[in-house]
Amino acid sequence: MSTLAIHNTLTRRKEPFVPLVPGRAGVYVCGPTVYDYIHVGNARTFSVFDLVVRWLRATGLEVTYVRNVTDVDDKIMDRARARGEPIEALTERTVAAFEEDCARLLLVKPDREPRATRYIGPMVELISVLESKGLAYRAANGDVYFSVRDFPGYGKLSRRNLDDLRAGERVAIEAAKHDPLDFVLWKAAKPGEPAWPSVFGDGRPGWHIECSAMSARELGATFDIHGGGWDLQFPHHENEIAQSEGASGQPFVRYWMHAAFLNMGEEKMSKSLGNVATAREVLASLDPVQGGEQLRLLLLRGHYRSEITYTRELLDDAGNALRGLYTALRETPPADGPVDWTSPWAARFRDAMNDDFDTPVAFAVLHELRAEVNRTRSPALAGLLKGLGATIGFLQQEPDAFLKGGVTVDVAALIAERQAAKRAKDYARADAIRQELDAAGIVLEDKPGGVTEWRKK
Ligand code: AMP
Ligand code: ZN
Repeated sequence: MSTLAIHNTLTRRKEPFVPLVPGRAGVYVCGPTVYDYIHVGNARTFSVFDLVVRWLRATGLEVTYVRNVTDVDDKIMDRARARGEPIEALTERTVAAFEEDCARLLLVKPDREPRATRYIGPMVELISVLESKGLAYRAANGDVYFSVRDFPGYGKLSRRNLDDLRAGERVAIEAAKHDPLDFVLWKAAKPGEPAWPSVFGDGRPGWHIECSAMSARELGATFDIHGGGWDLQFPHHENEIAQSEGASGQPFVRYWMHAAFLNMGEEKMSKSLGNVATAREVLASLDPVQGGEQLRLLLLRGHYRSEITYTRELLDDAGNALRGLYTALRETPPADGPVDWTSPWAARFRDAMNDDFDTPVAFAVLHELRAEVNRTRSPALAGLLKGLGATIGFLQQEPDAFLKGGVTVDVAALIAERQAAKRAKDYARADAIRQELDAAGIVLEDKPGGVTEWRKK
């Protein structure tokens, strides 16, 4: 029986996953900065870690899943100012929209969703510890900085060398810093900006310190898995390591995981490039019943360490694949019961998922199993298909309802009218009804015995 191996960004190797406490796993994922809707690139990263958490649980681990909310940040302040809206109103509204998007993507709710503004105390304490250890200093402008040259391991995650990094920095961008690589822990208050009192004077935290403070509070000084998008390796995660290990003297994270980018055209989807499709606009263009799982499949069927380029064709393709899987489950109602891991399909699926979450292979197994279900009409195999899907958050909707989708016309009434028209040999009317349904995206299937079934195109 295979056991889980995870590619650790820190070592650049696949390593057997050995949790700190047997039977448990602590997972921390950097969450959204809540000033706008998430785009499908963000959605990819959050879906990847949803898959990771689900699979850890499927292997029997008791997982504590933490995903933070960054609700204090320059972008948030700028957006609130531009809209003439109080910061809290903006962040509350954005968090609510994020939760809706997550629900549609079938993401499990994290066990804890700490918000930065509610952890100012622990952040200030952590900065004080860093100061007492000589790793932080108060600059002339009132800001507090982390002193990168005093933390020996700096650069170990992103494998950067300090001299190369310095060469890349323009000199004296910020005169207050002792070294151009030093990063801000606490920003002194400025008029019109939110501020909290602290031993460093009134101010607000820098971005990086929140994840160090909140992860320590929720999961301890050392925990198992820390995740985020590829771009967070540097500087964000490098800085988290410096802060956390600098303060505790303990290793911070045992396995670092990073999800590759989702691209739009040639480039990474990102707000600053302006090439974004928000998750909600994509979902609004899809069937209300099928769309969430369809987008989820697009985001997860590729391996999480490979980039994907978002296109409408890929999205349509994911929809077709999903309808194929659900059709098999509709035609052969699945037997209930736990997954039989001794079955060859289940074993291959598990081996793939245990091999650093190899979803392309895992989905290939599901498609083979679908063909086998269609061939054999075996409720046990259909049950296996549904059960394997459950471990990664797929195929749990009622097949008939899924395949019918969210329809706006009264299909049953039109089918009855069409049958009456056929009985009365009014074939023109029967055809017109078929066409009307076709225009509404509904395909009729006439079955033996005069029964007509339907599905969404
Ligand atoms: P942000 O709200 O910008 O901090 O991003 C939230 C998460 O989405 C972070 O983990 C980012 O690394 C990730 N992310 C941003 N853009 C992309 C993208 N194009 N593809 C995949 N992940 C992304
Ligand atoms: Zn973070």
